[in-house]
Amino acid sequence: MADESASQASAPRAAAGAATFAAAVSIALSAPSLTNPLLPGLAFVVLLPWAMAFVVAWFLSRIPAFRDARVVAIATSITVALPWLLVAGAGLARHPWMLWVGLLLAAMLPLWMLRARGSVLTALAASVLLCALPEGGLKYGSGSGLRPLVVVGMDSANWRFIEEMIEANPDDLPALQELRRRGTWAPLESETPTASARIWTILGTGVSDAANGIKNFGNRRSDLRAGRVWDAVVDSQDGAPAGTAGVVAWLINTPPPQPGEQPNLKFNTPGWVTGIREARPAAANPAKVLESMGEDSTNRPGFGELFGAMRSSMAVADADHAWLHVGTAFELVFGKLFSGFGKEDLTWRMKITRDRINADVFFELSRRYGPDFTTLVMYGTDQIGHFYWKYHEAKYGDPELFPSVRPVEVKRMGEALRDSYRACDAVLARLLAQADLGEITLMLISDHGMQPLPEARDDKLLKLRGGALLYAAGGGADGAGEEMIARFTTSNVDKALYISAKAEGETGRRHLNELREVLEGARNVSVGQGLFTLSFPDNTLQASLRVDFLYENKDTLEMDHELQVGDVLGVASDLFEIETRSGRHHLDGFFLLAGAGIEEGKQLERVSIYDVTPTMLHALGKAVPSDLPGRVVTEAFTAEHQAAHPVRSVEGGLPQPIRARSASEIEAELERQKLIEEGYITADDPAAGK
Ligand SMILES: [Zn+2]
Repeated sequence: MADESASQASAPRAAAGAATFAAAVSIALSAPSLTNPLLPGLAFVVLLPWAMAFVVAWFLSRIPAFRDARVVAIATSITVALPWLLVAGAGLARHPWMLWVGLLLAAMLPLWMLRARGSVLTALAASVLLCALPEGGLKYGSGSGLRPLVVVGMDSANWRFIEEMIEANPDDLPALQELRRRGTWAPLESETPTASARIWTILGTGVSDAANGIKNFGNRRSDLRAGRVWDAVVDSQDGAPAGTAGVVAWLINTPPPQPGEQPNLKFNTPGWVTGIREARPAAANPAKVLESMGEDSTNRPGFGELFGAMRSSMAVADADHAWLHVGTAFELVFGKLFSGFGKEDLTWRMKITRDRINADVFFELSRRYGPDFTTLVMYGTDQIGHFYWKYHEAKYGDPELFPSVRPVEVKRMGEALRDSYRACDAVLARLLAQADLGEITLMLISDHGMQPLPEARDDKLLKLRGGALLYAAGGGADGAGEEMIARFTTSNVDKALYISAKAEGETGRRHLNELREVLEGARNVSVGQGLFTLSFPDNTLQASLRVDFLYENKDTLEMDHELQVGDVLGVASDLFEIETRSGRHHLDGFFLLAGAGIEEGKQLERVSIYDVTPTMLHALGKAVPSDLPGRVVTEAFTAEHQAAHPVRSVEGGLPQPIRARSASEIEAELERQKLIEEGYITADDPAAGK
């Protein structure tokens, strides 16, 4: 009897020791970023499971079924270790099979621990193990002979905003301050239209939209007609050895090349807005999956995909970010339950979280592959700028520009925009801590700046819900509405809704034309007015349909008006939501170069968006094609560097991008369509699949 209660008492200790050890072993081998920096890492991987084991064991031992100390110890050990084991087994972890090793440890160790009784010792052993396997610094460059270049993009970032933050608090944005001391910087001159998809493509190709084919978000990767810098890096034409590249979240870069194509493009993850979640490697898209959750997209991820993305995002998180993810999750859940958080309170936190996750993916994959050219683009500064500028302005600027903003909103969201800059600064600080600026060149860029859009301009936007519109256009009945949704992807850009057909070529055009016919007849029945103007954006491919609300009818539309789309009647609030922007684009973006061969603490007058590609190529050590209209920003390089590495020119343009094949999902659908057309199967054949 005495013996039994003694071992009952030691069950929590046995479980704590076993769970901690299993978690630490799995994480150390499969997701080691989680233990870096070491102290928050130890707290996350060792202390947290160790403490949790005592709580869980206490609860389990109250349940009659868990009389036996061995059962309590094993059940506790597995329950507590499981979250860490799932992370170690995530798709993006280094050795996903570690999940099974960890499970075996968590199940077997408690039996031995019940006799050994050394939970503190085991936790210590786990800590030593984690300390003994330190994460090495980042190694950029593949040894191909190219000079490593890291490009960090912050959409809409501009020096004016950064300077205001530093003026208000000299300790703010420490990494950006350090980079200005150690680098050469300038305002980056953008051009209208400032649509981000257009400008980022100019930044990557060095040529105008007329030459590269990308005018707006309605365009797709298959419309791209000019090579990007990384195409030149991985497919060298000039006889020089090919280098390696990795691209995180640059716009219009999905779907990624098919397996076997461009093997030197080591990673490529989707940018903002695209409905395609495909990435290279496949699991490198957790931020994209999260984005598809939050917006009015027609292809939301399923629970399994979302769960996988959450595991992957933890597997590549560093310890600080892991704690931040957990903190954000608690903030969101408790804020919603107890503080009355609305959609606005949740949205800006999610946008910052997405950038944070993309940064983690970038660091982990850079460490794994050490490419010559790597880039990470973050969008929180733009998206939060558009919608939260009013709270920022009311707190730090001229509250009269936004009279409708209430004090409670300023209190809750007045810091959102500055926090998005701070989140980017933390990423730069991590880069500075892990990479040696003597060995890499670092470039910072944005596509344009941002300024307030005062309320007096009354830019009230009616945002169309793409999914709801397609559902109605399909006839509303469950099967028909769903099928219509399945044919298209949608994205909202400013006032317009862009609808793209998933099927390519003739089939896609037919789908879009059918849809256009239905939408042409859409009416506001309550006041007898038309609803939309419809157009195919200026590209011959007609791959997407642009739907604009008839703006002259803006003031007559009420949210309870009855609308008709096809044969379907509904109310306006089903189709529209009111979206109020308070920040709009400005032509001054930002530019900075730092690192090997770059002048320190130097300010330049102005750099053009067309100068970015030539400067990237030159920094990499590549020749600059004569077809590019921009110039190398030579004044940013030291005299010694210029003497040793004069600008080289080569006839022609960048190598053409490889043809973008459709995403596998689209391919499957195309194949199905073809089989139907050729009479092999019928449309309602269950074997046809989707
Ligand atoms: Zn924008």
